[in-house]
Amino acid sequence: LTEKVKAVIGLPAVTPDGRGIELVLNAGLSAGFEHSQKVGALGIGLYRTEIPFMNRSCFPSEHEQTVWYQEVLKAFPSHNVTMRTLDVGGDKALPYFPIQEDNPFLGWRGIRITLDHPEIFLLQVRAMIRANIGCNNLEIMLPMISSVGEVDDAVRLINQAYHELCTEYEQKLTKPSVGIMLEVPGVLYQLKELAQRVDFFSVGSNDLTQYLLAVDRNNSRVANIYDFYHPAVLRALNFIAQESNKYLVPLSLCGELASEPAGALLLLAMGYDKLSMNSYNISRVKWVIRHVELQRAKVMLSHALTLSNAQQVHNYLSEQLESLG
Ligand code: PEP
Ligand code: MG
Repeated sequence: LTEKVKAVIGLPAVTPDGRGIELVLNAGLSAGFEHSQKVGALGIGLYRTEIPFMNRSCFPSEHEQTVWYQEVLKAFPSHNVTMRTLDVGGDKALPYFPIQEDNPFLGWRGIRITLDHPEIFLLQVRAMIRANIGCNNLEIMLPMISSVGEVDDAVRLINQAYHELCTEYEQKLTKPSVGIMLEVPGVLYQLKELAQRVDFFSVGSNDLTQYLLAVDRNNSRVANIYDFYHPAVLRALNFIAQESNKYLVPLSLCGELASEPAGALLLLAMGYDKLSMNSYNISRVKWVIRHVELQRAKVMLSHALTLSNAQQVHNYLSEQLESLG
């Protein structure tokens, strides 16, 4: 970190004209917790539970999972920790749960798998709710949602796990908030119904970009088309912010875009409440936010939204950032 960026470590992410935004951590193992606390992460915006599932030879038990999750929840005692339910499939395979498909990114992924295997889902959610006893900072997030029915089914299972545990522990436990990832483009046209069912939205801009532009996020041959600053992606992100604001649903973004200074400024201007990123980018993003007025970010956004291709957006944003130093 440069000295300039280091200087913002203990300070809040607030623009000079007073608009604040929460910067939180993307995590998958406990590595990085200490660093992120040092740079002032206000909790975890995305805990990828599939990561601890990956380096093993069999599914973890409820007890093992409870121990893992408790360590994570305890690391941020006064902030929310958003745990995503198992998001395997696509490019993330478990050695003990092989999936053979021609089109894995359009196939059995995320919530689709866990709703087909409610025993896996229930065990995981039970472990999360048990880990939350005494911590009370858990939020549960559902990946790869494409329909309202999936949310209803998942919420029903979460309620089942919650009621079972209240009975087992003979006490009224804290019920976690439940939110969904917005990463399948179809949900953009169902935000009203989804807003009635969940407590928060979090955009997965990595997958949203992949599916909106029909471009494999890991294929180097088409990597030049995979671009978060493509006008279609920016306009979709802006539309999501307007709708979430209309339906009063708290909105965050947990894809790579949040960790880029230019991306973070555009998201701030759109009205996102929270940005989740790798701990090493928190200070850099915070520095930019502390040096750009919300009014100026809004001007940048309005102009960026008029541009008709990604290259123009890149050129415009780099000029703007250069002028900041
Ligand atoms: C995303 O899709 O943007 C996201 C944050 O989830 P993942 O990268 O784990 O698919
Ligand atoms: Mg994703």
